[in-house]
Amino acid sequence: MKITDVEVYVVDPTGGAATYNEEPQNVWTFVRVLTDAGVHGWGESSNFPANGSFIIADAIRRLRPWIVGQDAADITAMWHRLFRKAAYLGPRGLPTAVVSGIDIALWDIKGKVAGRPVYDLLGGKVRASVPLYANGWFAAQDGHPACAKPEDYAAAARRVVARGHAAIKLDPFHEMVPYHTGYLTGGITAVGEEFGVTCVAAIREAIGPEIVVLIDAHGQYNVPTAVRLARRLEPYRIGWFEEPTPPESLEALRAVREQVSVPICVGERLYTRWDFLPVLAGRLADYLMPDVVWTGGISEVIRIAALAETYHVPVTPHNAMGPLQVVAGAHAMLAVPNFFRLEHNVANVPWYDRCLDRPLDLRGDQLHLSPRPGLGVELDPAFLRAHRARGWSG
Ligand code: MG
Repeated sequence: MKITDVEVYVVDPTGGAATYNEEPQNVWTFVRVLTDAGVHGWGESSNFPANGSFIIADAIRRLRPWIVGQDAADITAMWHRLFRKAAYLGPRGLPTAVVSGIDIALWDIKGKVAGRPVYDLLGGKVRASVPLYANGWFAAQDGHPACAKPEDYAAAARRVVARGHAAIKLDPFHEMVPYHTGYLTGGITAVGEEFGVTCVAAIREAIGPEIVVLIDAHGQYNVPTAVRLARRLEPYRIGWFEEPTPPESLEALRAVREQVSVPICVGERLYTRWDFLPVLAGRLADYLMPDVVWTGGISEVIRIAALAETYHVPVTPHNAMGPLQVVAGAHAMLAVPNFFRLEHNVANVPWYDRCLDRPLDLRGDQLHLSPRPGLGVELDPAFLRAHRARGWSG
C-alpha cells in the first residue's frame, strides 16, 4: 500500500475571530495522506503561535519526496526517516511536528485497513472513556464576556464545574500575556502577582476543596519568581504548577523543584522520548504533558507514556490546537494505563465540531470515542479549502 500523495491544509475555522496576544489563535495544520489502495488518513501538525502552523505546513511540503512512494503500513520506519531527514534543523520542535501529522495519518490508515479503531491497535482500551480537564472556560462564551476580574473567574469556575468538570486549568497572571512567547527578564510586577494569587483564592473559595485547580505558568519566570509564585499558590492546594521556567533549561526547573512543594508538570515543549528521559531520571516533574501534534504523534506519545510508567509518573497530554489533536490524543490515552487527564479547551468545541464530520461525544468531563475504524472522524477537504487561513495557498 504505497503513499501516493500528501495534502496539506492550513485552516482557520474562526475566520480570524479567535485571537490570542493579537494573533489569530485557531490556525490549524491538517494533513491527508493518500494511498494507492484508495484509503486515506488524516493527521494534524498545528503549531503555535499562529505562523507556526504555516512553518510546519511548508516543511511537510518540502519533505514530500521522503513521504510519497513509501509503504503506508510502516509507521515506525516513516517516523525515523522523517525525524532524521529533518533533524539537521535541530531535533526539537519542527521535525517532530512534521512527524506528528504524518504519524497520526498513518495510524488512521492502519485502523481503516484493519477495520478497527486506533486505540484497539494500541493494545485496546484500559478505560471506557477519556477524562478531561477544562481549559478556556474563562474565555468569552455562552453570552459571558472573557474574565477580567477575580470575581469573574470565580463565577466562570462555578459554571464550568456545574457542567461536570472536576479539574480546571488557567494562567491567572494576566500581565504576562504579552511575554508568553517573549521571555526576557522572567519577572512579574507586584500588582500582576497579586492579581493572579487573588484570582486563584477566589476560584478556590467559589468551587470548594474537591475540584482540581491546575496553574499554567507558560514558562515565563526566572527561578526566584517561579519559586515565590509557587509558594504563594500553595495554600490554595493547586494540582500542579505547569512550566514554571522556560523549557530549555532543566537546571532552572531543578532549582525550582528543590525549593517548592507544589506538584510540577512539564512537557508541552519537550520533544520525543529523548527530551523526557532526563526529566524522569532527574525526578523533575510529577506529571508529564507530551503533545501528540508536537512531540511525534501517537507513536511517540505511547513511547513516552511507557517510559513514564517505568517511573510511575502519570502522563496528561497537552491539547491546545485542533480537533484531530483531541481525537488522536484520546485514542492514545484510552490505551495508556498511567494517564491522568487530557487537556480540553471548552471554548474551542464549536470550532472542533465545525471541522469534523460529526461532533465530539462529550459527556461532562469525559470524551467518548466510537469504535469506528481509524480515528473515527473525517474532515472535508472542500470545507478546509473554503476556510483556509489568511496567507495560505493550497
Ligand atoms: Mg501550558
